[in-house]
Amino acid sequence: MSFADLGLSEKLLKAVEEAGYTEPTPIQAQAIPPVLMMKDIIGIAQTGTGKTASFVLPMIDILASGRRRALMPRSLILAPTRELAAQVAENFEKYGKNHDLSLVLLIGGVQMGDQVKALNEGVDVLIATPGRLMDLFERGKILLNGCELLVIDEADRMLDMGFIPDIEFICSKLPEQRQTMLFSATMPPPIEKLAKKFLENPKRIEV
Ligand code: AMP
Repeated sequence: MSFADLGLSEKLLKAVEEAGYTEPTPIQAQAIPPVLMMKDIIGIAQTGTGKTASFVLPMIDILASGRRRALMPRSLILAPTRELAAQVAENFEKYGKNHDLSLVLLIGGVQMGDQVKALNEGVDVLIATPGRLMDLFERGKILLNGCELLVIDEADRMLDMGFIPDIEFICSKLPEQRQTMLFSATMPPPIEKLAKKFLENPKRIEV
């Protein structure tokens, strides 16, 4: 299996080559084709398996087509911690450097004013921790009803940190017609329940 077999664009294949990757990891080989076909997926994978690129790469190709809407992020990635959110952002910057996508990182410890200003300029990719996103949503600074792509990363850690009610609230504000990807190292019952509620006929991938 090579990256060229997965359905990614030439432009993205070039970025992958520049990153020095010669072949996709198992989660990438199994997740990228269904994500490009707009299917929901559950990825059961630990950190270190290459799971971040398994959603970042196809998302860049999906987002490269389509129009931006001010104040309405087109995609949302929820991560449990600032560090993880920042890592996801770095992945988008690395693979998407030739794609001109606008990215906003919404994490605690950063001036909210700067984040709101960035949001007003139109967002293709919003990467957030649940706490900060809830805060901005409750202040009326953000609309999520244009967000047709959602990633819930490290769902089991979200559970450990008590973020499930926030995630449920955020999911309820996104359009029902959307693509949802959930990644978790383990699938305890509350995560299974979350997946059942918010994903539609997901393809389950376990590595
Ligand atoms: P992750 O599981 O997403 O945290 O990724 C773990 C590490 O694997 C990161 O440092 C990536 O840069 C690296 N990586 C991701 N995909 C590949 C690949 N196909 N070949 C080699 N390294 C990779």
